[in-house]
Amino acid sequence: MGNDCLFCRIVAGEIPATVVRETATTLAFRDIDPKAPVHVLVIPKEHYADVATLGQGDPALAGELLATAAAVAEDEGLLGDGFRLMFNTGAYGGQEVFHVHAHVLGGAPLGPMLARDMA
Ligand code: AMP
Repeated sequence: MGNDCLFCRIVAGEIPATVVRETATTLAFRDIDPKAPVHVLVIPKEHYADVATLGQGDPALAGELLATAAAVAEDEGLLGDGFRLMFNTGAYGGQEVFHVHAHVLGGAPLGPMLARDMA
């Protein structure tokens, strides 16, 4: 993916980010507009638009992404009280950046999974 992908530019070091963990294939950095006391984004360095494309295209890399997310949760002290791991996907999912990213959210009770009761 070229320079028009924000998260590819973070991987390339062209845009600054507060990196909390890096592996050969993944990068974790703090969300610029945190929605919880801990809010870290975990991405594969390779560009995939969303979690469906990643999961179908490279399941091993998807597993590495999960391992990095778990390590971040441990580093941030979230394993005891729990946390939320979230992939917004597509228009209905509210995805804004089309480079797959897991949101690691925690540090306080996060409330219901969805803001609105769909029933
Ligand atoms: P989503 O709505 O799931 O696509 O989430 C995109 C997330 O990226 C939002 O939570 C933004 O706050 C976050 N974000 C946007 N730009 C940056 C940036 N330059 N550094 C870190 N996080 C960012």
